[in-house]
Amino acid sequence: MKQPILEADVVIIGGGVTGAAIARELSRYQLGTVLVEKRGELCAGQTKGSLGNIYTGLNLVGSMILKSVLLPPGTPLTELYHPHTLHTKWCEEGFREWEPVLNELDIKHRYVPLTIIAKDEDQIKNLEKIRDLGRQLGGMYADFEQIDREEIFAREPNVNPEVVTALYASRHVIDIFPPEVAIALAENAVQNGCKILLNTEVIGILQNGHHQIVQTVKGPIKTNFIVNAACGWGDKVCDMAGGGRDWGLQYRKTVMIILDTRCKGLVNGMVRWPNVPGRLDLVQRREDNILIECGTYDPTDRPDDTYTIREDVIKSMAVAKTLIPRISEKDIINTFTGVRVFNTRDVEDHIVEFHPSNKKFLNVMIRLPGIIGALPMAGHVVGMLQNAGCKLVKKDDFHSYRKTIPRFRDLSDEVRNRLIRNDPRYGHVVCRCETVTEGQIIEAIKRGASTEEGVRMRTRAGMGRCKGGFCGPRVVKILARELKIPVTEVKKRSLDSPLLLCRSKELLLRNEKGIA
Ligand SMILES: Cc1cc2nc3c(=O)[nH]c(=O)nc-3n(C[C@H](O)[C@H](O)[C@H](O)COP(=O)(O)OP(=O)(O)OC[C@H]3O[C@@H](n4cnc5c(N)ncnc54)[C@H](O)[C@@H]3O)c2cc1C
Repeated sequence: MKQPILEADVVIIGGGVTGAAIARELSRYQLGTVLVEKRGELCAGQTKGSLGNIYTGLNLVGSMILKSVLLPPGTPLTELYHPHTLHTKWCEEGFREWEPVLNELDIKHRYVPLTIIAKDEDQIKNLEKIRDLGRQLGGMYADFEQIDREEIFAREPNVNPEVVTALYASRHVIDIFPPEVAIALAENAVQNGCKILLNTEVIGILQNGHHQIVQTVKGPIKTNFIVNAACGWGDKVCDMAGGGRDWGLQYRKTVMIILDTRCKGLVNGMVRWPNVPGRLDLVQRREDNILIECGTYDPTDRPDDTYTIREDVIKSMAVAKTLIPRISEKDIINTFTGVRVFNTRDVEDHIVEFHPSNKKFLNVMIRLPGIIGALPMAGHVVGMLQNAGCKLVKKDDFHSYRKTIPRFRDLSDEVRNRLIRNDPRYGHVVCRCETVTEGQIIEAIKRGASTEEGVRMRTRAGMGRCKGGFCGPRVVKILARELKIPVTEVKKRSLDSPLLLCRSKELLLRNEKGIA
């Protein structure tokens, strides 16, 4: 029997923070919204490999200087500030908009102090550039203090003993875990009626009278409007809707290192050397561990060039130790590589515009920092769809609140006991490093996790020192049981990433029979 075709008013292509924020915004209206993501879990692209801070002021000034590597050499400092770009506008508005939404969506977050330190003449000059640009821009950009050695060590006792001066801002950086943000936005969109399809790669777009057909590996979707939020792959998706694109994409990669939880006390917030064009050197206390990003923006030709090279880790650690000398290689528990995406038409801004030959296909190509600006961006996109004829009627019953999966590790004994009384599976710890229980894993699966990575990003199971050595096989078993599939069908992250090929006894049998 022929399957009925799926219909929507708007199809969003790409389940990173951009797609998820637009999905949530659209779910305020009486619309059929479908978000399609090619991988087996949301935020499989840049959002997963992100440093992930919501920041403003002093940190944003530092970023302006860092990104001047993309501009012609010798560009004057004040030309690094572009108040009229969507990028700057959304960074400024986004920081203010996030705080209430982080609370509504029960997203774990924490303000971390930022200390930009300098020890030698060159660094002091670079620090002065940041200070001067901040003061020239005024307002929130000037909301920092310059502190001396005594103050520096009172606030960050473990920094390089040779530092002489620093810039300090206490509330310019909000530490979040980027996948949690994207997943929370998406979960809230689903609560409000949005449909999310994972493992659903878009492979073509057809015009059919007044409608468009989004062709996916799982079948077609008939829709009025399409939003292209495929970021690093957005050029290819754009071309599916027709030719005439006058922009391309460029990619720059950076390695990141995560240190064990036991190092948490080494820094109180984000500590960095002053930015120089094209270089970012920082050590940051995250909620659960320490993150190091020390390196350059290395060009690459692919958005998925996320392989981590040993030499890059060694170089990065060497610089990190100049910031915090007590850091040690022994404490590395993970490394990953993030790929930043820029468009070639205007590296300083996003591209948010309708396709030149398809006025119902909206390109939303976001350059970094796309998490900070995601909320105003989503409001803007919805406005553009409305102006293009998308009928928007507000729902009376939109729920802006979403509850997180209980974070067992953070709960008091009283709350833990209550949880266990209601569901004894909360009393079974599956991931020992991060204290994640079977109850949390089952809840993650109920909310859409269907891969090992999906469970990891939603619960932190497997993110600790043993990297899933202990809990990995147990998580696979729980996934197989809950999804009612054989363990050999459980995937790491998407359909093309099997974890187990067959039972080991089958392998012996095959060997005996000479089957490859
Ligand atoms: C190292 C690093 C540090 C960063 N630090 C910060 C920071 O501190 N603060 C900040 O705000 N931003 C930061 N950013 C930038 C931020 O991560 C990005 O701007 C943001 O995540 C982009 O989100 P997105 O949804 O547009 O793209 P993505 O997250 O890449 O999402 C695109 C999605 O589209 C999917 N897709 C692609 N093609 C198809 C298809 N054909 N069919 C279906 N799905 C498809 C992909 O699988 C992917 O999941 C950083 C980025 C990096 C790399």
